[in-house]
Amino acid sequence: MMVASLARLLWLGPALRAVLLDAAPPAPPAPLACLARFYAVRPEQRAGEWYGVLPDGRVLAYDDHRNKSFDEQLAAPDLEDMFSIPYHAGAIQPVTRENDDPGRIRVDPVFAATYGARRDAVDVVKIRFLDQDLTVNRRVAPAFARAAQRLSRAIDADPTLRPFLQGLGGTFVWRPIAGTDRQSAHSYGVSIDINVKRSHYWRWQKPPQPLRWRNDIPEAIVRAFEAEGFIWGGRWYHYDTMHFEYRPELLDPACTPAAPAAAATR
Ligand SMILES: [Zn+2]
Repeated sequence: MMVASLARLLWLGPALRAVLLDAAPPAPPAPLACLARFYAVRPEQRAGEWYGVLPDGRVLAYDDHRNKSFDEQLAAPDLEDMFSIPYHAGAIQPVTRENDDPGRIRVDPVFAATYGARRDAVDVVKIRFLDQDLTVNRRVAPAFARAAQRLSRAIDADPTLRPFLQGLGGTFVWRPIAGTDRQSAHSYGVSIDINVKRSHYWRWQKPPQPLRWRNDIPEAIVRAFEAEGFIWGGRWYHYDTMHFEYRPELLDPACTPAAPAAAATR
């Protein structure tokens, strides 16, 4: 317990030391502080505005003060927009609210700086995942391993889960998101598609409109991934039920910008 607490203190690193030692420096907004915990981005305040600074010195606005539609947030988000749609774990619910897609808004330079900006810059490692070989980002390999342990225990308790986790659809593929010029999270080796044949994807839907959320993935599988920091594409209006993606900032309650009162309005 003591060791774990100490390790956590050390891990928080420079930001915490600054808070403890300096004369009350301004604290960044909670979501920006969270991004700094999980990604290669450093909070910095300039002239009263918060920014995220990448290792190469590029500066990203935390809040660009633009009032954006959902599509504009997808295309050109600021850092704050990554948190604009709360992610709710818990019991699986059909997603019926248009564009309720928590996690699809990504500031790509943050992912590129953290995980690799080109295919050959992504540091991948091979792992065994439920008796299958996967290639994943070295940084996220421990989280994949922990998820596999949880899934393995879940399968022992309920063998009917196994078919959903066989014939895995893929992890590391440097590619854009289908139908877009935006980089897929699969490019960084932080995502996994489970059994495609047991899954539903909004682009396969016929007729294509209106979107009708569908899902066969059991909740035990979703819970195992979410417990280790992976969000699920089955929680999206634009549903992608095979897709899990390492996004710990969306599953940590300390990262949420909205107070409970504001959250209750949606
Ligand atoms: Zn996927």
